[in-house]
Amino acid sequence: MEEGYSQNPLENFKLVAFCPLCNAQYHPHQASVLEQKEDAHLVYVKCEQCGSAIIALVVTGLMGISSVGLVTDLTEKDIRKFQNASAVTSDDILDFHHGLRREKTVKAFLDGE
Ligand SMILES: [Zn+2]
Repeated sequence: MEEGYSQNPLENFKLVAFCPLCNAQYHPHQASVLEQKEDAHLVYVKCEQCGSAIIALVVTGLMGISSVGLVTDLTEKDIRKFQNASAVTSDDILDFHHGLRREKTVKAFLDGE
């Protein structure tokens, strides 16, 4: 094992993680692993300095550690709630649209009245 490399994904994460909004350095205790599969970890980090959050995919490979992060307004609880939910389908959207059409105020708005 290479020097500076840890089996703990959160320890590795500190090597690469800065808040994209305020540039504060993340610390392992701020991060939680949402999901882990083989050498890939889905990590949630909330910045203590500015309160923003990211979801990052951290992958450990033969060439080292790489990560892709995404700024989110979801909380960790939201992510866990929707993580395994089924995708929204076009039928769901149509049902929602029909539901809105049944509401008088919304129907008037959609009809431009
Ligand atoms: Zn920040």
